[in-house]
Amino acid sequence: VKKILKRIVIGFLALVVVFVLFAGWLAYRMNAEQKVLRPIPTAMVTAGVYAVQDGTVNLFLVNDGDDCVVIDAGNDIKSVEKGMRSLNFDPAKVKAVFLTHTDGDHVAALRLFRNAKVYISVLEEQMLNGKTHRFFIFNNKIDTPYEKIDDSQTVTIGKIAVKGIMTPGHTPGSICYLVNGQYLFTGDTLSLRNNEVQRFNDFFNMDSKTEEKSIRNLAHVTGVRLILTAHYGVSSDFEKAFHSWR
Ligand SMILES: [Zn+2]
Repeated sequence: VKKILKRIVIGFLALVVVFVLFAGWLAYRMNAEQKVLRPIPTAMVTAGVYAVQDGTVNLFLVNDGDDCVVIDAGNDIKSVEKGMRSLNFDPAKVKAVFLTHTDGDHVAALRLFRNAKVYISVLEEQMLNGKTHRFFIFNNKIDTPYEKIDDSQTVTIGKIAVKGIMTPGHTPGSICYLVNGQYLFTGDTLSLRNNEVQRFNDFFNMDSKTEEKSIRNLAHVTGVRLILTAHYGVSSDFEKAFHSWR
């Protein structure tokens, strides 16, 4: 009995050591990957388009008179609320939230927009219902009801037209939004480095090869005046940014 007990204790200790090493490696990698992110400060980006910075992530607000929609919902509800107030926007006036995907740093402030409809892509639902895990056994989750938007579908909120462009890769249901035909919100589908489009961090991507296909597809969108990413700022030179993807 003593022998068996000893083996159990050693086995258990070995498991603890493996777990601690893995957790340490994960924390180290996460930290290194977060360091290359380049969100922009809370401010107006161009007339009617505003960025809110929440730590390493941006969400965006599009406003046209009485109509106001938000792209993504940040990492921390308090910080998002503070950002909205500093821009003099009442979160209760937001009519719709369009999620580029459902990772935790894009959905935290959904409850803040209490009068808004929430949209995810038809392909992203698998991240919420347990069909596809984000990481090991872990699933994404959001704490509000939602509607679904499909590839090429346009949802119109007053004077604001939001067209979905399905861009799987980062998550299987990642989607970009082309707003009023000129503002392209790309979420985590790509990164911008020295004004050039590159893949998003492989470490955070579920399928980088599929993401590359999505980026090549995006390179053929016409009329884009501004690319707005969730972690890498914005670019007003669409041609240059996508030139190596055509
Ligand atoms: Zn993100």
